[in-house]
Amino acid sequence: MANFESSNCHIFERRRLEGKVALITGGASGIGECTARLFVKHGAKVIIADIQDNLGQAMCEDLNKSEEAISFIQCDVTKESDVQTAVDVAISKYGKLDIMFSNAGIPGNKSNGTVLGADTDYENFRRVFDVNVFGAFLCGKHAARVMMPAKKGSIIFTSSLCSVTSGFVPHAYCASKHAVVGLTKNLGVELGEFGIRVNCISPFGVATPMMLNNLGCGKQKVEEYVCEIANLKEAVLEVNDIAEAALYLGSDESKYISGINLVIDGGYSTTNIALK
Ligand code: NAD
Repeated sequence: MANFESSNCHIFERRRLEGKVALITGGASGIGECTARLFVKHGAKVIIADIQDNLGQAMCEDLNKSEEAISFIQCDVTKESDVQTAVDVAISKYGKLDIMFSNAGIPGNKSNGTVLGADTDYENFRRVFDVNVFGAFLCGKHAARVMMPAKKGSIIFTSSLCSVTSGFVPHAYCASKHAVVGLTKNLGVELGEFGIRVNCISPFGVATPMMLNNLGCGKQKVEEYVCEIANLKEAVLEVNDIAEAALYLGSDESKYISGINLVIDGGYSTTNIALK
């Protein structure tokens, strides 16, 4: 039997992001908000970049009561100057950027209440790509700009379960989330030699404002739908489950993980059935 060197087995501290600096786009709501709160709890300095000023400012007031751990910057990820400024704020405030969580996204509209290709409005398709794909591209680009000289960093994108399946969502959204996986894989290859890891997270439906508005239903309905078709019948997918995945990918515990699409779907995608 080979000798196992117990000295190689690291036990990580409870505050898993102590000393790290993270930028989270779409950080004022849903998955981004939950992740920002978790990152702060784990000792990170966090900048949330979002278009929703009121929510972002309110979060800062809430989380900065004992120490200044979080700040907000107005940022539309479709505008390169906004993304550039957000990254530069991280550098001027903290001297570095360790984690870019490029998470802002929109679902797009179902034209005429249908998802048929022939009904899809060009402007809607374009808008979805502007935010979900070009926004992610800009986040990756500007994170790389400051991470490459530092020779380290973790870039995390939020894709979706529909990056590995089809149906249910508007096809613009599905196509955009497939593109995010391609971006993840290729950036992972390009940036690996600079010590930068690039991964994405693909959640199934979780009851965030986006999901609830899009479906026009309550939290319980979303949970029931997911529960019904996921392999795991007893567990409920919660926004915290996605934040925990981001925590892992942002922390040093995942130091040898790059280029993956971490699908969080209770095993659903292994059944290879289009979503209904
Ligand atoms: P959410 O609406 O609660 O949060 C999205 C945030 O992105 C909002 O705060 C919004 O203001 C921000 N945003 C939108 N457009 C922006 C822009 N141009 N610039 C900057 N910020 C912008 O929704 P969520 O469910 O938390 O979504 C987060 C990510 O998770 C998205 O990329 C979404 O596609 C993805 N996702 C969500 C689910 C789900 O079921 N909720 C499933 C799979 C993937």
